[in-house]
Amino acid sequence: LPRVGVLALQGAFREHRRVLESLGVQVTEVRLPADLAGLGGLILPGGESTSMARLMDEYGLWDPLRDFHASGGALWGTCAGAILLAREVEGAPPQFGGQQRSLGLIDLGVRRNAFGRQVDSFQVPLAVRGLDAPFPAVFIRAPALTGVGEGAEVLATHMDTVVLARQGRVLACAFHPELTGDVRLHRLFLEMVRLEMARLEMVRLGMVRE
Ligand code: GLN
Repeated sequence: LPRVGVLALQGAFREHRRVLESLGVQVTEVRLPADLAGLGGLILPGGESTSMARLMDEYGLWDPLRDFHASGGALWGTCAGAILLAREVEGAPPQFGGQQRSLGLIDLGVRRNAFGRQVDSFQVPLAVRGLDAPFPAVFIRAPALTGVGEGAEVLATHMDTVVLARQGRVLACAFHPELTGDVRLHRLFLEMVRLEMARLEMVRLGMVRE
């Protein structure tokens, strides 16, 4: 099994760590660029995307995370983590001048806190492409995934809003899959990590082209 990292600056990283460990995966908590060494995949957890972005500035993580992706690392952003992965962010607070930095590693936008104040948090059985039974999806001040571009594939929608999408080795979801005890999406991500590492190994051995 490949080693997987969890971005551990803020938010629900311990919960992801627990799920991964329950699946027998070795987990690294990532705070500094050097922590990315040797990882096949990285989860960016839910929490508060503006706080995480600020800490990513402080720890110099922006370029190392883009390099991690470019060199074949798989990434999964959940809720605030999806905001960090997006191409553009709508609804950033005024102290950010309405602008919020993001990695742009998946071809979609996000609209923060898109599901409204009245329904700050809720759970729904979500139909997910590739899963044969609904996934219990917990939404907590969740973003909408908007403007999903050509490169990305929609895997789930809730009330006409995209809430799970994938582009190659990058997965983004608006909800919190680490909170319900259903490990199917973690398994899906681990499969992405494994396949990507196998592909890179074949490239390295000259068996396939990049
Ligand atoms: N509302 C948070 C943000 O915009 C995300 C909430 C979450 O991760 N549960 O960063």
